[in-house]
Amino acid sequence: MKSILLTPAIEDMANEYSSELFLDRKDEFVQPLPNLRALLNGLDNAVTIRTGYKKYIITVIRVYPFINRLKPSFIDRVHQLFANLDVDLSEKININGKDLPFYKHVTSAMRYDAVRDKDFLPYAKRLGIRSCVYCNANYAISFKVKKSNIAKYELDHFKPQSVYPYLCTNFYNLYPVCANCNKAKLKTITLFPLYTEDPARRYPFKFTLDKKSIVKYMLTQDYTDLKIEFDTSDHDDHNRVFKIEGSYNALKDVAEELIWKHKIYNSSYLKSLRESFGKKFNYGGFNRLILGNYDKPTDIHQRPLSKLTQDIAKQLGILK
Ligand SMILES: [Zn+2]
Repeated sequence: MKSILLTPAIEDMANEYSSELFLDRKDEFVQPLPNLRALLNGLDNAVTIRTGYKKYIITVIRVYPFINRLKPSFIDRVHQLFANLDVDLSEKININGKDLPFYKHVTSAMRYDAVRDKDFLPYAKRLGIRSCVYCNANYAISFKVKKSNIAKYELDHFKPQSVYPYLCTNFYNLYPVCANCNKAKLKTITLFPLYTEDPARRYPFKFTLDKKSIVKYMLTQDYTDLKIEFDTSDHDDHNRVFKIEGSYNALKDVAEELIWKHKIYNSSYLKSLRESFGKKFNYGGFNRLILGNYDKPTDIHQRPLSKLTQDIAKQLGILK
């Protein structure tokens, strides 16, 4: 729902992820490079006449030292190395006794399974991501129970595995999302990027309450009369694929509560509340108390519905 500015601190995080990946594993854990070499050897015995497959694996091995920290702006350049190879990524091939589409041989060799179940989870936390980055309507949290990692979210590959299998463990290509959004996206290539190098493109989306619907609501006091609109600027596909406007219009009661707050919290009431809050806590959390959600655009990933809450609170004048 918002893009993360790709700062040097985020790059450092990606570099740390890449350099420490699987270092903590026991000897029996087969690392990606030996796995990829075994895949290459296995191709000698596979029933396939095309040489493109071997070249594909050789290219993955070549780019592996930097592929997990490759910045999004360099992906097109690297993809050129794969683009002209004579390979059908979805073709089922039996290699080393496993009958899988070719791209799944690659993602399995690169140990995406281990990244999904363990290695990426602490980084999602460090990025402040605790809600689905596509819809901001569901939590995306992870925690430990005894020694097991549990993630209450799925990882979407922004660049789909079936087209870019070599990016299956790339730091910038893994998006914590809810199961609904992951299912809706499947192999679709959507345009909203989680990372941007342009500060002006961090917030491409905006919710508004239709003004006429507010007037109608004031008369009827029936929240179903409210209408939530979703402006996508140049990412129309986002609404179409994830059905954002439709799903948020099932949450009109949240907008109703903001109208209540707008009416109840007049300036003198807010002043006295702020003073009593300020005596006990620092002022930083005051707007969060009023909204019942995070109030800063940079914190949108911290909690579901914070984007809706912030946008409508601004529209109504609760937030400056
Ligand atoms: Zn979602």
